[in-house]
Order: sequence, then structure tokens, then C-alpha cells
Amino acid sequence: MASAPFISIAPPLPFAGGEAPAASAVGRLRDSHGRAITDLRISVTDRCNYKCVYCRTGEEDSRFTELPIEHYLRMIRVFVSLGIEKVRITGGEPLLRKGVVEMVAELARMRTAFEDEDGITGNRLDIALTTNGHLLESMAAPLKAAGLNRVTVSMDAVDPETFSRITRVPRSFDRVLAGVRAARDAGLGPVKVNCVLLRGFNDEQIERFAEFSRTEGVIVRFIEWMPLEEPSSAPGSRTWAPETVVPMDEIVARLNAWRPLVDLAPNAASETARRFTFDDGIGEIGIIAPVSRPFCGHCSRVRLTSDGKIRTCLFSQTDHDLEKKIVQGKSDAELETYIRHVVFRKEARHHIGEAGFLKPSRSMVHIGG
Ligand code: SAM
Repeated sequence: MASAPFISIAPPLPFAGGEAPAASAVGRLRDSHGRAITDLRISVTDRCNYKCVYCRTGEEDSRFTELPIEHYLRMIRVFVSLGIEKVRITGGEPLLRKGVVEMVAELARMRTAFEDEDGITGNRLDIALTTNGHLLESMAAPLKAAGLNRVTVSMDAVDPETFSRITRVPRSFDRVLAGVRAARDAGLGPVKVNCVLLRGFNDEQIERFAEFSRTEGVIVRFIEWMPLEEPSSAPGSRTWAPETVVPMDEIVARLNAWRPLVDLAPNAASETARRFTFDDGIGEIGIIAPVSRPFCGHCSRVRLTSDGKIRTCLFSQTDHDLEKKIVQGKSDAELETYIRHVVFRKEARHHIGEAGFLKPSRSMVHIGG
């Protein structure tokens, strides 16, 4: 069975109610809680060709502007100069964005600016992409050739009918399955398949996903549903409620009853997933439990939205306009100062499930998951 969680919640803000100390002007990007920020997620569009019932209204369109790819690249270069080592391209659906392969090629030319644990600087970035997989079959090989390291594909069912009921796009399952296989064959592995479980909707898929991991050779990761959906009264849309979340303990118990699980060590301290294999070592399952076991204490992430705003937490109430600084003609040094200042004030943790919880100022699809 599972051992005690390795994750913890960050302590309360040390300066709550008082003046924040100034951000350092040198060294790695850090927040006021001492967390090094090494992981940047960048959304390149908030359009999506799926309308997943727990994420979107029935709409597909964008709500926010898309920037020229060069603007994203300039922002990323400045972030990398401050210590970012890992860049994940997301959306909306990032494969809808023209120029995404060329963007990956530019990212592959960037090098890290600070020493890694072996004392080495100038490493290649770890470049990943999160996609619904609909357009991946033909794009996997070009993305790999451009320098993409890894891909995560979102898949919330392994049977075609439930899949289309979730995505609200007919015949979507076969496209995504072909995308997963193309990614694996192109060497974009280990391919991770992310599944958000909703009680009474797709939670009967848990054991079938475990089988899928074993037969397809992919890492299946179950993610607890967070209150980040677009408000919607469209038929079929789901509104977050604590009872709909399928918590980690329940997923572990279900899998264990199906076939004994064996714990795997975390890959890194900032690893968000609790990892398991089965008693015969075949298959890998990750469980990401932001609701029942928050991992904010180890958060190393910051996000850039498709319209160029910095978000320091998924649940932020505000974002910070980096694109405006570019439009105003600010220098890279000025962008650096701004980023340090904003990131320093990163939230200690989220407050899902607590009294007074406020929904964030944007929903997941418009932030970048
Ligand atoms: N279109 C891409 C995709 O489908 O992976 C990237 C964007 S999508 C918003 C990123 C991930 O966020 C998907 O795996 C999706 O299932 C997940 N997601 C969306 N809303 C969520 C929520 N409220 N709680 C947890 N995960 C969510």
C-alpha cells in the first residue's frame, strides 16, 4: 500500500499583513518562500478544438489575444537567464498554433544559465508539451526532430463512447490513440497520459487505464479535478464540487484491489505525482492530488498566458502584464527586474476546499494547464 505522502504545504507568508522584503537582483529566480522557480509553462493559444465537459463551456473560441511567437521566445529567453530549466508548451490546444514546431526548434537552441546539481551550466532545456493529441499523429515526428523531449497527452477515457461524451467531439478517441502511439514511436517518451477523473462520470475507467498503461507502454497519471472550469450552463457541462473529486486514496485502493501496486521513488523533490508500478513491474501510474494532498510547498512553477501575462499560481486572483512591458519598449534588464519582483510575491499555496476559497481570475483553458 501507499506510504506517507512526500509532499507538504508551504508555511504561511512570513510577511502576511506587512511589507514584503525586496526581491534579490541577482542569482536564481526565487520567491519569498525560498522556492527556486525552474519550471515555466507557456500557453500559446487559449483556443481548443475539444470542449471537455469539466473544462469548457460549449465554445471553442479564444477569449484572449495570441502574441507573435517571437514575443513568447523573448519572454522565455529572459526567464531562462533567471534560472528556468524546463519549459512546457500548453494551451488551449498548443498544436492549433501555427509556428509551434519552429518555436520548439528555437527553444532547443537555448541553454540553462545556472549550475545543475552536478555543477554544470549551459545544458539544453527540458522541453515538453501538453496536448489533447487530436493533431499529434502527424506532428509527433516533426516536433521530435525540432527538439521536443517529452509529450503529455490528455485522455479522460479509454473507450471511444465515453471519450466523445467528455470531449464533445465525435470520433475523437481514435485520433488521440493514434497520436499517443505516434508520439511513442517518434521517441517522445516516456509518453504520459493524463486523466482527470469525475465521480460518476468516468471513474469506472480507472482499472481500464491501468491496463492501458501496461499494454501501450505509457505512464498513466490520474489528476484530481480542481475548481478551474469555465462557468457554464451548457448541456453536459460540469461544475466543480468536492464530492465529484476522486481522491488519491480511493484511486490507490481501487488499483490495489485490481492488482497490487508497488511504490516508485519520486524523480525529484518537486515531483507532483505519487508514482507506482504493479507487482510484476509492468506499467506505471502517477497520481496527482492537488486537492487531497496539495504539493504547493515544492512548487517550482510559474506560468505565462497566451496574451503574455505572468501567473504565479493556478489560483492567482491577478496576473501581471509582461507583454505590456515589451510593447512599452522595455529592455531585457527591465523585464528581468519586473519578473523577479512579480515571482517573489508568488502565493504560498492554494486554498481549495477552505472557507472563503475564491475561484481564480481565469479558468484552466485560458491559463494553460
Ligand atoms: N489542450 C491541451 C490538453 O488537452 O492537454 C492543453 C490544455 S488542457 C487545459 C491541460 C490539462 O488540464 C488537461 O490534461 C486537462 O485535462 C487538465 N484540466 C483541465 N481542467 C482541469 C481541472 N479543472 N482540474 C484538473 N485538470 C484540468
